[in-house]
Amino acid sequence: MQDTFLQQGLRRKMVDDLSRNISDQKVLDAMMKVPRHFFLDPTLESHAYSDRPLPILCGQTISQPSTVAFQTQLLELQPGMKVLEIGTGSGYQTAVLCTMGAKVWSIERQKALYDKTKPLLASLNYRAHCFLGDGYKGLTDTDYLFDRILITCGAPYLPQPLADQLKPGGILVIPVGNEEQEMLRYHKDAEGVMQPPETFGNFRFVPMLGGRQF
Ligand code: SAH
Repeated sequence: MQDTFLQQGLRRKMVDDLSRNISDQKVLDAMMKVPRHFFLDPTLESHAYSDRPLPILCGQTISQPSTVAFQTQLLELQPGMKVLEIGTGSGYQTAVLCTMGAKVWSIERQKALYDKTKPLLASLNYRAHCFLGDGYKGLTDTDYLFDRILITCGAPYLPQPLADQLKPGGILVIPVGNEEQEMLRYHKDAEGVMQPPETFGNFRFVPMLGGRQF
């Protein structure tokens, strides 16, 4: 896979456009570093730097760059934080989080996507821990708590196991709704109590579905 001057130029333009609405320079820097076209089917490469969601495997989509930037900014990430991502998909959002210095655990329910994305991330040196599983349950078989939790599919509600796996003082970002979702950001206070969410407008994500898909 190559990152040509043309692709770097298109990416610079994408990031310049994003900077009109995104103020966190660390998010913009990370999105300048991650070659989005590496995460797409080669036939879609020429669209990689337009602000559009694009199809990946299994009828799913890679979120549009402005949505990735917006969700990432809401996380208020610091290097070294433990992040749980629900919906690995193409791995692009995962790569952005890794580039910002987060330690990432990511869950995907579609086996074909998991099988493709886990080795892709490793081959590009993004050290995320990928799991095939049901994001409604969070990360099972461990008692990890996360500084940040990011849901990248449209959830009908906030699943309780995800709220439980957030550290006191942590932040969880989730789009909630059916056809359309409202972006919610939850803070868990120092005593471990989830505070009422802040709201950040409407978005359209593919749905968060139950169970694993083999
Ligand atoms: N972050 C991804 C977005 C992919 S779209 C990217 O940058 O490409 C959302 C993904 O969430 C899809 O791949 C979908 O299969 C996955 N998903 C939906 N419901 C899920 C669940 N319950 N657990 C884990 N992943 C889920």
